Amino acid sequence: MSFSSLGLSATLVNAVAAIGYTEPTAIQRAAIPAILRGEDVLGAAQTGSGKTAAFALPLLQSLLDNRDGPRQLHGLILVPTRELAAQVGESIRKLAQHMSMTVKVCIVFGGVSINPQMMALRGGADIVVATPGRLLDLIDHNALKISRVAMLVLDEADRLLDLGFSAELGRIMELLPAQRQNLFFSATFPPAVQALADRMLHQPARIEVLSEPLSKPDIAQRAIHVDVARRTQLLKYLILVNDWSRVLVFVATKYAAEHVADKLRRNGIDAGAFHGEFSQGARTEVLGDFKASRLRVLVATDVAARGIDIARLPVVVNYDLPRSAVDYTHRIGRTGRAGESGVAVSFISADTEAHFRLIEKRQDFLLPREQVAGFEMLETLAPPAPDSVTDLVNGGIKGKRKSKKDKLREAAAVAGE
Ligand code: AMP
Repeated sequence: MSFSSLGLSATLVNAVAAIGYTEPTAIQRAAIPAILRGEDVLGAAQTGSGKTAAFALPLLQSLLDNRDGPRQLHGLILVPTRELAAQVGESIRKLAQHMSMTVKVCIVFGGVSINPQMMALRGGADIVVATPGRLLDLIDHNALKISRVAMLVLDEADRLLDLGFSAELGRIMELLPAQRQNLFFSATFPPAVQALADRMLHQPARIEVLSEPLSKPDIAQRAIHVDVARRTQLLKYLILVNDWSRVLVFVATKYAAEHVADKLRRNGIDAGAFHGEFSQGARTEVLGDFKASRLRVLVATDVAARGIDIARLPVVVNYDLPRSAVDYTHRIGRTGRAGESGVAVSFISADTEAHFRLIEKRQDFLLPREQVAGFEMLETLAPPAPDSVTDLVNGGIKGKRKSKKDKLREAAAVAGE
């Protein structure tokens, strides 16, 4: 199937050709005609499915068909994070660049000065991509009005609610016109997300794509047993031995992000840290360095797990395991995007084995545990979860407490780190 058979006009078909898409993905095949017919859409879309273009192309088409008179806000896209705002906005700009009319896309998010965004909105915008809090700030400053929006897109709705944007979304809904088209995308549908969808959408076309090559990426998952204290050494070893050109490493804390990046740098590997405490400028810069291959390794907290699209990212490493199975899926979904293959490596220690088993169970997979020669795990695996409170009261789980020998090994490993 080709883009031209989806009902898009020639200028948009040319635009997708110009950016190198040859065929629509499953979500694009299903969503584009429904959106062009004016239907609301409820999309269950996985990372890397091509959902941005699935809503951006019909949005641009609708703009093309309806624009007359002075510029007014036609499409509003709400996203959970600054990174996703920038990414979605840039994708739309790229598509719009090849169109026969000028499309003004404004990207707005919090954590940076509001003034440049107010300036950018002067004279209006055709499309705004926004995080909810900053959008409301801008509305309060009279920098834009959303009362004439024809199409509303909620991207990563589950994440929007996870991040506590429910009240902001409620306020935004009240300011939007009742007559509008709604597109709702989410990777997961817990009850709160479903309730929001039910409230927002009118007889939506339901679109679920799970088995398309782009949406089911080719990711080889590996689980390596290693002691906590040897992880940085193992990471360095794997990067060098496998000659990994670009690696995204996930850690649990901001401190770990800084610490591991620092250790790698001291071992001659260009590494940067990425976490929520950096200023927006610093985040953009370090992400830019990573994307441009000036950094070989990015050590990040879960801030980077969702929404960020880094082309040609061959390897993701879970240095610390994610808290949940859903986070695991989001993290590993950073690799193997757009039809490329990727590797996702998880470091598992004696203490985290049980947690990883839970992730495996939830996501319905089972990985063989590997050991890397020279980095074999010395800590002993914990037995299954404690079955009596007394175990805990007595100061630990029987058999899990470290032996004197374990402690000596650990100390030796730390010293050698
Ligand atoms: P998304 O799910 O929107 O984040 O898109 C994931 C990746 O797929 C992005 O890098 C897009 O540029 C790419 N992509 C989207 N649509 C297509 C397509 N029809 N053909 C090839 N790549 C695509």
